[in-house]
Amino acid sequence: MIKENIESVKNVIERIKGCDFEDSGVTLIAVTKQKPVTDIKEAIESGIENIGENKVQELVPKMDEIGDGVNYHMIGHLQSNKVKDIIGRVRLIHSVDRKSLVKEIEKRCKAENITQDVLIQVNVSKEDTKSGIYVEDLKEFLDYIDGFEHIKVKGLMTMAPHYENPEDTAWVFKKLKEIFEDIKSINYNNIKMEYLSMGMSHDYEVALENGSNMIRIGSYLFGDRIY
Ligand SMILES: *Cc1c(COP(=O)(O)O)cnc(C)c1O
Repeated sequence: MIKENIESVKNVIERIKGCDFEDSGVTLIAVTKQKPVTDIKEAIESGIENIGENKVQELVPKMDEIGDGVNYHMIGHLQSNKVKDIIGRVRLIHSVDRKSLVKEIEKRCKAENITQDVLIQVNVSKEDTKSGIYVEDLKEFLDYIDGFEHIKVKGLMTMAPHYENPEDTAWVFKKLKEIFEDIKSINYNNIKMEYLSMGMSHDYEVALENGSNMIRIGSYLFGDRIY
């Protein structure tokens, strides 16, 4: 089933973007939290090149077991004391949301003489259950993070509120796309807007229609998670 589900997401991407998946510029991240390594391997054999996890303690053993040849993404809330376990090993940290985390990433990367690509998580809808920088605080946060040489900001990430009707989410994606484009016109040293990470199983079509180029899909590919 995993293979068929991946194909079906790719078909949606192709329909919305009007071209082959390979030419669409869309990165499909398979979110494998709470799913076994056998599922991840099946996804990789079915063409998945990007894997997302939201907990360091789950991500690290999976990276150890699966190894190179695929990109890993840290998409969940990141505690500062766990930064050292993933820097240099993940393609992107999607969840940079506070200055203390920026400082820790910089410190650890500097010590290892590496740079880490990250996205800034933005809380567009201001739901208090979600993390992320508020839109009105983003400019100041970007100015701050631009001063750190070992962190490269590659774009923005958001989690939309859950609406029954996914179309109701459109305003969130539109808003972040607008901000993404605005930031592109500003000259920074270490910030370059390339990736707009938005859209999950429930709302990725609406996200793609509104400018997303990186989607994070879990339950649609692997089935529901049991909490
Ligand atoms: C779990 C998770 C996803 C995927 O959610 P699904 O609804 O299963 O597609 C995407 N992004 C983040 C940050 C997540 O934690």
